[in-house]
Amino acid sequence: MTGLLGRGAGLALVVALAALASFTGVLRPVDDALASLRFDLVRHPVSQTLAVVEIDASSIRAAGQWPWGRDRFARAIANLQDAGAETIAFDVDFSARSSPAADAALRSAIERRPGSVVLPTFVQALRVGGAETTTESAPLGDLSGEALLASVNVPIDSDGRVRSYRYGFGDAGAYRPTIGALLAGAPIDNRGAFLIDYGIRPDQILRLSFDDIHNGRFDPARIKGRRILIGSTALELGDEFATPRQRAIPGVYVHALAYESVLAGRALRPVSPLAVLVAAAGAALLLRPRRAGSIPQLLRRHGFVAVAALGVPMTLQAVYPVVADTAVVLFVQGLCIIWSTREELARRARAIVEQREASLLHLALHEPESELPNRRALLNQTAARIEGNPDRPLAVLAVGIDRFATMRGAIGYRRFNEVVRQVATRIRDASGEEMAAHLSTSVMGVAISADTPEALLAKVNSIEAMDPWLAIEGLSVDAFVRIGVAYRQGPDDNAELLLENASIALDRAREMDRRTVTYDQDAFADPTLNLALMSDMLRGLEAGDLALHYQPKAAIASGRIIGVEALVRWTHPTRGPIPPDTLIATAEETGMIRAFTEWSVQQGVADLKTLLAAGHEITMAINISASLLADRDFRKKLLAAAAGCERNLCLEITESAIIRNPGHAMAAIADYRAAGLKISIDDYGSGLSSLAYLKMIHADELKIDKGLVVNVKESARDALILKSTVDLAHSLGMSVVAEGVETDDVLAVLADMKCDVVQGWLIAKAMSLPDLQALMARPVRRAA
Ligand code: C2E
Ligand code: CA
Ligand code: CA
Repeated sequence: MTGLLGRGAGLALVVALAALASFTGVLRPVDDALASLRFDLVRHPVSQTLAVVEIDASSIRAAGQWPWGRDRFARAIANLQDAGAETIAFDVDFSARSSPAADAALRSAIERRPGSVVLPTFVQALRVGGAETTTESAPLGDLSGEALLASVNVPIDSDGRVRSYRYGFGDAGAYRPTIGALLAGAPIDNRGAFLIDYGIRPDQILRLSFDDIHNGRFDPARIKGRRILIGSTALELGDEFATPRQRAIPGVYVHALAYESVLAGRALRPVSPLAVLVAAAGAALLLRPRRAGSIPQLLRRHGFVAVAALGVPMTLQAVYPVVADTAVVLFVQGLCIIWSTREELARRARAIVEQREASLLHLALHEPESELPNRRALLNQTAARIEGNPDRPLAVLAVGIDRFATMRGAIGYRRFNEVVRQVATRIRDASGEEMAAHLSTSVMGVAISADTPEALLAKVNSIEAMDPWLAIEGLSVDAFVRIGVAYRQGPDDNAELLLENASIALDRAREMDRRTVTYDQDAFADPTLNLALMSDMLRGLEAGDLALHYQPKAAIASGRIIGVEALVRWTHPTRGPIPPDTLIATAEETGMIRAFTEWSVQQGVADLKTLLAAGHEITMAINISASLLADRDFRKKLLAAAAGCERNLCLEITESAIIRNPGHAMAAIADYRAAGLKISIDDYGSGLSSLAYLKMIHADELKIDKGLVVNVKESARDALILKSTVDLAHSLGMSVVAEGVETDDVLAVLADMKCDVVQGWLIAKAMSLPDLQALMARPVRRAA
């Protein structure tokens, strides 16, 4: 009956128990109680065709003795017949002999109207040699000659009550109807039984005292045409029975009620227990616990079944002569209540367990402080994606909030948590992914997938271009993030490996002071490979495999190309194109950056001289790594190489390189500027930019990072920062270069802001020196 058993098995068990209860009769007391209740409520009137003549206490007192002489009965018969009684039946024991004279008187009274007097017999079952026969105790002698005989047997139930009544006893040879059936004119030969309808009230039956009849003190009109039943009601005669409604009722009234039952067609038949059992099974089906059932619904069903179990038998019994014992339906209802209760308790227990499991799972998959999914959750998600679609381009990103310890110190732990949550939201918004995980204090992770490698790259770029400014409780916080990216490249790249690689890439980004670093198996996995790459690079420098390409910078006002930025290009003989980021990062790590930069300065200056000789009056910008900026030896070499064209040479230095060691950086900047070189602050706005800081650096040019430029159309806040930066730079005497300009829209906004110079794919990508020369030879095309 519990969840262990299926619902079908539970139902079968309930029905089996109901059948057992029904057939063993354990529910009998309940059915009996219900039956008497029905007899109380469902009444039927008497036919008024029968009168009971009571041999009551006063009759016995009047006679002064018992048993009576039969002449007393003879006189009563004569009086009743004279009054027009139809049939006169006796429920009186005539087996004892009285005086011959009295017997004769009775016989002659009977013979006056042959067949109109009924005398009682008592049938007893006898076992003779294993076979059952009946014997009748009716030693009436010659009394019975003209009288009819009828049995006064009454079957008594095991609890001592009289419920049923028979039509007759014996077999075809010796049939004896019962007195009630005979009076009611029931068909002869019916040996069946029926249930007396106790809804018929005995007190409504006309009653007369024997003494009054004997003495002729009665209204003959009341007797005329009636059937008369004579029997004792005096307590001392002890002819009493218990019934479902009465504690004790004289036997004569039992016969009278049986008579009324037959006459009125109220000889009740029990409804088959099997039919009731079917109804009980139906109730079990209706009341069985259901998965989606509400409690009020179940209560309504129980109410319906209870009302039906009580009401249907009542109505049936009122209309038809049938008795339906429906205790088994109530029993089934009880079983179903137990069943439902157990199911409900089990369900609650399960719910508690499930809830606990869910909260444990939540704990296992979430960072307690930020409530964000944790590393495990990200790994699960990534693994599921790889399994679901192994060929779909996928990348795992580790996104670290820069200088978080300082920020946390400044704004407090609680607000820092809010920073983490907001950055996670931005990552989700920017990538369109549903989940950004919290991997460690300041690092978040996200798995990104897209239909094509290009779309994937675009998503990574949009994370890179995320707005770093957050509003935390009214404070404006600059949550600059660095990003480590690991692209899935083959079947061996599982979730763990990708996340680890992304984290390594993020570490590199921090070490190298870069915004985004992509994990590179060859460069990162094995340090000896880095060394190999660097010796390849040195060889490449000698062999001329490395080249500087030049990306034009155009003045917005004139549309003229006023300068170029030198960007390295290297196609490795076996590994193909090496991204400049990787090359520079590896060179910085291995200490090869010095050799590389010396080469780039040599090469850049040589190309600059070529351009100047061809009459192109431009400035060439060369990127200088932070580590070399304050190096005296390098400075000496650079100034020597630049001799003669100092005024056309510009050094791009990242803002973060300056912030890292401001004292030395500013001294170096001053030295270079004193020698006539220009200084450009690169990637402004990508880090922890501060306008106040800008005032302390004396530079010629400010290059606004592409991250800030790309968003200028969409983000009013970025536009505001850009505009105020342009204004401040102008007021400090710097010209402003916007890099990463890809569209006319952006160019128009920049022009509005009075930005001086633009650089980006809209103007041109980086190109070889001959291509640049060809471009510069063409007539000027106004950019704006
Ligand atoms: P950077 O100094 O910020 O260089 C600008 C980067 O932006 C270049 O990437 C350039 O190709 C790219 N770019 C130019 N216009 C657009 C545009 O409209 N949209 C977009 N999305 N990107 C644009 P590149 O060549 O891959 O160089 C990456 C970085 O590598 C450079 O960033 C610079 O930090 C470093 N680098 C490149 N060449 C050298 C070098 O010779 N020396 C040193 N020290 N660093 C170099
Ligand atoms: Ca640059
Ligand atoms: Ca830049």
